[in-house]
Amino acid sequence: MLQSLFLSGPLSLAPGFITVSSLVRSRFSLLKLFLVSLLSILCCSALAQSQTGGQANLKARTGNEPHSMTRSTAVDHAGTAASFYEELRKALKKRKTRVENICPPSDSVARRVLEEYGAIFLAIKKVTTPPVCIFTSEEQVAKFQDKLDYVTENVAGADIELQTAAMDALIEARKQAHQEGLDITPRDGSEAARRSYDDSLHLWNTRFLPALEHWLAQGKLSEEQVVRLKSMPLRSQIAHVLELEKSGIYFSKDLSKSILYSIAAPGTSQHIAMLALDVNEFDNSRVREILAEHGWFQTVLSDLPHFTFLGLEEEDLPKHGLKSVEADGQIFWIPNVVDPPR
Ligand SMILES: [Zn+2]
Repeated sequence: MLQSLFLSGPLSLAPGFITVSSLVRSRFSLLKLFLVSLLSILCCSALAQSQTGGQANLKARTGNEPHSMTRSTAVDHAGTAASFYEELRKALKKRKTRVENICPPSDSVARRVLEEYGAIFLAIKKVTTPPVCIFTSEEQVAKFQDKLDYVTENVAGADIELQTAAMDALIEARKQAHQEGLDITPRDGSEAARRSYDDSLHLWNTRFLPALEHWLAQGKLSEEQVVRLKSMPLRSQIAHVLELEKSGIYFSKDLSKSILYSIAAPGTSQHIAMLALDVNEFDNSRVREILAEHGWFQTVLSDLPHFTFLGLEEEDLPKHGLKSVEADGQIFWIPNVVDPPR
């Protein structure tokens, strides 16, 4: 930036100097020379100020108003974002694993989960990502969580458990929020962060069961279908729910969208990895900006209070295979799926 100022300075001054030879002939000319030079200097310094101001604004927009920036360029980001699967392969290689190990591409449920919640696998190396897309038992989740580097902190009256790097970033974000007279608090107490397999199963049923009753009453599902759906193994249940949603029989809380945007399928929650936090103040744009500045982003489309710790810079997200999508007036960073494996 300084370089560009030095370049533009002399060029802008030049007209002032060119007038020198023609003006020195009279005393009036000397006065004119003084005035013209003064004017040139003033113009230049105004120009310089407007340039530095412009740079500062740009920086502020990049650093402090990421959402207003991304909102206006959401389409561009989607267009220039790297391929999610390509970046995922690289990220998993650094963790000495492969997409086939965590989420077999032939498993349609696992694949859907990966493409909806997979941003978490791109998180910084400092945190641990799940060894699988879908945990299948409480025992498996407990074993994974026990090995994590995590801490418990009392945040606004609730005991919150997060991986250490995620907690450190959250604490810094809260400090920043407090300085600005704002706060970042967990939604619904401790459940806002760490969840067990059983928690994720319970939460699934809080959406799945009422939706069954609703669609039964609407005549869209028969008694027989409802009984069958309730009794089938979980994996089949999830697959059937996702299939029914293709015909508009939605299972989210308000029955208007996929259940995956309302609650995670059992065993798939980012909360299990202790890298997610549901935030009360999600509708405050400055709170979202502060969280983004500290590596916390909304990565599950239209799950408004849900933030994921990636630990990355927002401006780098496209090159990590995430694209920004605007929904409900907020920006979500989701996998840019362009070349799904077959
Ligand atoms: Zn959540």
